Amino acid sequence: MVDGSRLPGYRADVGVRDGRIADIGRLQGSAARTIDASGLVVSPGFIDHHTHLDAQLLWDPYGTSAPEHGVTTVITGNCGLALAPLGPGGEEELVQSFVRVEAIPRQALEQGVQWRWHSFGDYLDALEGRIGVNVGGQIGHIAVRHHVLGAEATERTATPGEIERMRALVREGMEAGALGFSTNRNPRHNREDGKPVASRLADDAELFALCDVLAELNSGVIQTILGLSKTDHLPWYEQLARRTGRPVTWQSVQHRWIAPDLWRQQLDGLAGIFAGGHQAYGLAMTMPLTRHFSLKNAQAFDEFPTWKTLMFLPEPARKEAFASAETRVKLRADLADSKPSNFHKRWDLVTIIKTRDPRFLGKSVADMAAIRQQDALDAFLDLSLEEDLETTFESANTGGDPEAMGEILRSPYVLIGISDAGAHVQFGATFGYSTTLLGLWVRERQIMPLEQAIHKLTFQVASVYGLPQRGLLRPGYWADLTLFDPSTVRPCEPEWAEDYPANTRRLVQRSEGLHYTIVNGQVIYQDGRLSGDLPGTVLRGTAARERAAA
Ligand SMILES: [Zn+2]
Repeated sequence: MVDGSRLPGYRADVGVRDGRIADIGRLQGSAARTIDASGLVVSPGFIDHHTHLDAQLLWDPYGTSAPEHGVTTVITGNCGLALAPLGPGGEEELVQSFVRVEAIPRQALEQGVQWRWHSFGDYLDALEGRIGVNVGGQIGHIAVRHHVLGAEATERTATPGEIERMRALVREGMEAGALGFSTNRNPRHNREDGKPVASRLADDAELFALCDVLAELNSGVIQTILGLSKTDHLPWYEQLARRTGRPVTWQSVQHRWIAPDLWRQQLDGLAGIFAGGHQAYGLAMTMPLTRHFSLKNAQAFDEFPTWKTLMFLPEPARKEAFASAETRVKLRADLADSKPSNFHKRWDLVTIIKTRDPRFLGKSVADMAAIRQQDALDAFLDLSLEEDLETTFESANTGGDPEAMGEILRSPYVLIGISDAGAHVQFGATFGYSTTLLGLWVRERQIMPLEQAIHKLTFQVASVYGLPQRGLLRPGYWADLTLFDPSTVRPCEPEWAEDYPANTRRLVQRSEGLHYTIVNGQVIYQDGRLSGDLPGTVLRGTAARERAAA
């Protein structure tokens, strides 16, 4: 048993009664059901704090593939996106944002989401009793802004009166049980119609005024996404954390091929902020951020103006443009620009994973270009055009260097896990952030002890998000448990499923060596199978609990 506290693991029975841990040790009594966990590690269930399962949970009460990776609690409402609060006629504004930023198919949202709520509390109530995992929600700035400004939320800053109305919505949501508030200033985050997501139009005055509500209530986490990872944002996070006294999270601390020293500067900056007594946690992902794309459907190039314009054109016009020598000059100039970018611009790191030409399968674009005796960019475009834009590529911009990853993932100022579960569902599946940590980084690369890894997946997150009696194995705590084999645990390659509404396709991800996932004392997942039981509950924040107590 590894209990989440970082104490060394030890051999013990874990007794469960009425959804909670009854006792731990050499237990005598009898039980209705006994699970033989010899050879397995029993740990607290993992808490995935960065998901976009807001919609999926409405048709999939487990948020699959979360339980397959030992996750017992998921937190929604990240990156400014949430399905509540919802103003009259506001549905389309939220769909517009989710479809493009989180790349969730429109048909799935249209068929899968029945809008049976207005307030944030109504949304949480719509989930209560219908979920297999525990769910915590954050209030999304985009939803709050549309509620008050309507369609103009994507066009202008707010007036003082509007800010007051938004503050009231944030307060109402927090008092109904939100675990925090999220915002999004990522300059690459646009809606389906090409407009910026609403939160990008908020100035500091608005954003600080909304975050002040959390300070006034002394409750909740402030989750932010500003776009490119840099160090010059750190004073801004520090200011927000100092002003509110609340934990601020930002993304992300990462090793990137195009900026190999950045992560160390970020960690040094974080150490300084925490030394001053302020909490500004950097998020980090455990797996190389792998994306699949084709020139039919790609977000990879949105940061380059000519590329982005072309990707928004209808397909016939897009093909014509990609074929034009004149346009290629511009495409090439975009990539030659020395401005920092997410895309590493290295054709030797882009792999061809679907093509009609067997010679090129599994090869890098650079190698394919050499075979074709062409320049890499021309070869990339020509092959795609020859194959009706169906050629599919895979690329990872981040997460390559094991030494850097070790220092990042061990840092006490870093929260592990940007699973983005429920998002980018046709571009990748990174549900396995936890099984990647346990398999790749703990077992294979030995970057940290198992006890530290479990702590980072459980009690650290429960503590930052203020989840009472979760994230540790202690008598009286909720029996959210994960049972896995440390010698085999690992994520599988993502695979296609057609289990989204309207039969839309998405990538799911199984695991190996993860044997049981138990929520509030009930097995929801065992060796590849979901049980069908729905023991999950909505985890409400301290502002709601204090309100209920009063
Ligand atoms: Zn996100």
